[in-house]
Amino acid sequence: MRRDHLGENPPTPADASPWGADAATVRTLDGPEFRGVTFHEIRARTILDRVPGASRMPFEWTVNPYRGCAHACVYCFARGAHGRLGLGTGPGFDSRIVVKVNAPELLARQLASRHWQGAHIAMGTDVDCYQRAEAGYRLMPGILTALRDRANPFSLLTKGTLILRDLELLAQAAEVTEVGVSVSVGFTDEELWRTLEPGTPSPHHRLDVVRALGERGIDCGVLMAPVVPFLGDSPEQLRATVRAAAEAGAVSVTPLVLHLRPGAREWFTAWLARRHPGLVGRYERMYAGGAYAPTRYQRSVTRQVHELAAEFGIGPADRAAPRPAPGPPPPTRDPEHLAALRARRHAERSPDTPSSTPPFGSITAGTGRVPPPRGALHAP
Ligand code: SF4
Repeated sequence: MRRDHLGENPPTPADASPWGADAATVRTLDGPEFRGVTFHEIRARTILDRVPGASRMPFEWTVNPYRGCAHACVYCFARGAHGRLGLGTGPGFDSRIVVKVNAPELLARQLASRHWQGAHIAMGTDVDCYQRAEAGYRLMPGILTALRDRANPFSLLTKGTLILRDLELLAQAAEVTEVGVSVSVGFTDEELWRTLEPGTPSPHHRLDVVRALGERGIDCGVLMAPVVPFLGDSPEQLRATVRAAAEAGAVSVTPLVLHLRPGAREWFTAWLARRHPGLVGRYERMYAGGAYAPTRYQRSVTRQVHELAAEFGIGPADRAAPRPAPGPPPPTRDPEHLAALRARRHAERSPDTPSSTPPFGSITAGTGRVPPPRGALHAP
């Protein structure tokens, strides 16, 4: 499936690795889903990234095996960071994907370190770990295996239906530790999806993921992100999305209004000028203060979504929780230890015991306290 790019398509200067010629191997993969995409394979030195202390994100550690994302959402906030790598914020973000090929083995090693305290790990916080590249590189099975074997709590946010490939691993991990999964669905409008999130599975296919996870006993929330001003925020659109999430069995729905940081803002504005030129002025006024919509607007969206969530029986929508405290020292892979953890998880998840797993590791459910200044989720 994989072929060495260097043979058939010699890299142009634009393909050169930002880490130097020896740091990355540039490849292409066969298959229509990879057409036009180059993969910059690197061997990372570390895979556990600490969220900056000042971040308001409710997790401290993240794992991101990829950078760039062929899901190609126009508004993706990670475009800015891709630009800083020298790979571009526009087509470069969509088509030049950095792959940390040693992510699974590195994570297994770092989790086994005596310095690791078993803290919660969030995935999908930078770019989507179930993006198209994952179909070719298959890094997530090794990552989930490492987390399962150490019974390390984690959460995961995705727009990728590919997550269902790893359903059994997720279920096994949920037997021994806290696992939170959220699927990002900001709207169900098909026309908006096709133009704004052109490389993603359709919203309805994503909601099928929510359904499938639930049927396998894995609670799944919907991160309703982004809510797009003037294009996806009408009462009817909000209602349709919350209703669809409820019908899919979502255990929570968390609205998050579009934010436009440098890197994404220019790209989104160009898209807006092409597709909806009449809205450019309204957007300029709405985002005149910076990357975030006015707090009053955010609160209005949040209130409406909370009311709809209550109406459709999803909830509680706001399940805010403090940043998870570091857990006990990492367990061994001893089968008896894992069996004991499994038994404890069963007891914890009995019908009489309310789940303490917050959606996506305790992201606030759109309380109006957004926006987080940095370290935010990929989805909006
Ligand atoms: S928003 Fe998420 S799915 Fe979309 S391009 Fe960014 S990382 Fe990929």
